[in-house]
Amino acid sequence: MQTWVIGNWKQNPATNHDVTMLVDSLLQATNKDNVTKNAATAVCQLMVAPSCIHLASVSARLQDSSLLCAAQDISAHSHSTGAYTGDCSAQQVADAGASWTILGHSERRQYHKECNDILVQKMSNALAQGLGIVLCVGETQAQYDAKQTLSVLDAQLSVIKELLNQQSNQSPECAQKLADHLIIAYEPVWAIGTGKVPTVTEVSATHEYIKQTVASFAAPLANISVLYGGSVNAVNADNFAASPMINGALVGGAALKADSFLAIADAF
Ligand code: PEP
Repeated sequence: MQTWVIGNWKQNPATNHDVTMLVDSLLQATNKDNVTKNAATAVCQLMVAPSCIHLASVSARLQDSSLLCAAQDISAHSHSTGAYTGDCSAQQVADAGASWTILGHSERRQYHKECNDILVQKMSNALAQGLGIVLCVGETQAQYDAKQTLSVLDAQLSVIKELLNQQSNQSPECAQKLADHLIIAYEPVWAIGTGKVPTVTEVSATHEYIKQTVASFAAPLANISVLYGGSVNAVNADNFAASPMINGALVGGAALKADSFLAIADAF
């Protein structure tokens, strides 16, 4: 199973200078040390998601490296061009060098009211331009306390079914194309940036549920990678990596320092 460690830089770093420093340290470390090889033959794929303003410069610098670049979001309205002030389209981020986009991050859901109707459009736009999708799902603290995690996931994952239904060509090839372009990141909202983490047993059981749910939508989706996100750091990464149900990590705070990000990558 392919493993992934993805750094979500959010609205960081503040300056071009600090972005350059971060990229420099990532390049230096990955060039001198093949940190992305795990014990078996599989390779942990590294990816970073800079802010839109830094996407082109970062992806140009990472072009000859083993790191991929992702956008943090794309426009729901058009995959190409149009009168959508403030938006960046899938075509524009692909042209800037991104091969993936994060979609449905809890901060987008919270601050931009991103719901399934919007996400299905964004997913469709990503696929129209050949971008891979890192779809984030996860419950809030209140939902976790009320034992609603699985029903929240059902509702959030149903966007995948909506997308498959919406595609005019519902062939096995269409499902396979989606499977080749989709990663799910399970991120309990209460674990993001808080230092609180669920147990590996809890995460493994939830990932198993996610894998079964998406496989029930279309057979090719049985093999997609499911990553864990929420306060992953250089110390706890080994625990998560030990579970075969956890196929990598989506990392926020610890991705802003090359050494902690690469230590997490090393674990997977
Ligand atoms: C995130 O925002 O996707 C995330 C996982 O953040 P952190 O690692 O800081 O909890």
